[in-house]
Amino acid sequence: MSTAPASVIAANLARARERIAEACARANRKAESVTLVAVSKTQPAAAVAAALAAGQTVFGENRVQEAAAKFPALRADWPALRLHLIGALQTNKARDAVRLADVIESLDRPRLAAALAEAMRKEGRQPALLVQVNTGDEPQKAGVPRAEAEAFLRACREEHGLPVRGLMCIPPLAEDPRPHFEYLAGLAARHGLPVLSMGMSADFEVAIACGATHVRLGTAIFGARG
Ligand SMILES: *Cc1c(COP(=O)(O)O)cnc(C)c1O
Repeated sequence: MSTAPASVIAANLARARERIAEACARANRKAESVTLVAVSKTQPAAAVAAALAAGQTVFGENRVQEAAAKFPALRADWPALRLHLIGALQTNKARDAVRLADVIESLDRPRLAAALAEAMRKEGRQPALLVQVNTGDEPQKAGVPRAEAEAFLRACREEHGLPVRGLMCIPPLAEDPRPHFEYLAGLAARHGLPVLSMGMSADFEVAIACGATHVRLGTAIFGARG
């Protein structure tokens, strides 16, 4: 695979910000109410640097190891950089995740909640946490099943004392995403959670109409992954 040139990444970012602003306008929302998370998984550090140079500060990565290899050096040059971990997280990576991330979007099971709580104590660092909900109850997909979401949210806050700020979902590929986004927005509202990370390159405008505060765009910014 070839990496998109810096000028293409800058143009893609400008276009994405425009489309976000237009979707916000249609939903009677302020453009500033939606944060663009540029998903840089599989992209080289140079592509992230190009996005940073074009004014993008918030990035998403799937794998702790890949994030650890790319981001500490970039952070040194760009103190405003914010990193979201958006991929399935193994408990044995909890400590590295807490050290690296500003937001962890993939909290989805009790053992991970316990591991993150312990890692936060040890590291003295508290990334914001989002609970990932498997809104389609797909067996192969990460995320807490719908039926367990409410109890899990309560356990995260009450048993583990975790700073849960919101929810994240990845709707089933072949379905209309709107009912999934609406479900997630309703769940967040019932629990007083301000952050809703939903919407990717193919469906972020629908997500914004449903109340997304964070949209996660990979291919729309960096081009196709190899
Ligand atoms: C890869 C990925 C994205 C970005 O997907 P695109 O379709 O490339 O925009 C968003 N969220 C998660 C969790 C991902 O793994």
